[in-house]
Amino acid sequence: MLVSWRVKAVSLGVVALSLSVELVCWVFRHLRPKKALNEVLFFPSELACVEHIFNPTLTYSCFCSLPHGIETSFSRLLRHILSASSSLDLCVFAFSNMDLGRAILALHSRGVIIRVLADKDYTAISGSQIGTLRKAGICVRCSKGTVYMHHKFVVLDSRLLITGSLNWTLTAVQSNDENLIITEEQDLLLPFSQEFNRLWVKNDPCKRPLSCSQPKP
Ligand code: ZN
Repeated sequence: MLVSWRVKAVSLGVVALSLSVELVCWVFRHLRPKKALNEVLFFPSELACVEHIFNPTLTYSCFCSLPHGIETSFSRLLRHILSASSSLDLCVFAFSNMDLGRAILALHSRGVIIRVLADKDYTAISGSQIGTLRKAGICVRCSKGTVYMHHKFVVLDSRLLITGSLNWTLTAVQSNDENLIITEEQDLLLPFSQEFNRLWVKNDPCKRPLSCSQPKP
């Protein structure tokens, strides 16, 4: 009888111990702080179709001549941009890439609040997406002064920062050696948000003569 009770006690101890280990593992998995996203992308990006990124529920086959089903630096960039759910603040010198313009328009149609700061000289160049954004009702401000607004960064949802050498042009994406850092580190993101807000206020068209072309009424 004594041996039987000892066996039961040991068995209960083993069960309790394994449950405790499971509990500790669960707490560690679910309650520890989530690691901030950090990612580096290099360009030029491999050429590939990005239609499935704009239409994740695509039910038909895309018949374009580009390779399909390939994850590239550009597809990663598009995915990050399209992950915005509430706001997107873009500061970019050159913006002529039509897929990136399409992404911004898609966010705008979803109700994401978009602010774009652009360089006044580049805005007037043929192929610039700035006019298309304005026609869609997106708020765009242009830099003033004699120096370039040469930043290339975007802040999404006050959550994600994308910054680096990449202009939003086809040449930069497909031909140039470029880099981007994508990060959720708030210590890095906050100064960029502050810089955006500083330039946004500084280039308020109500405070000065307009420095770049406005949409025709
Ligand atoms: Zn395709």
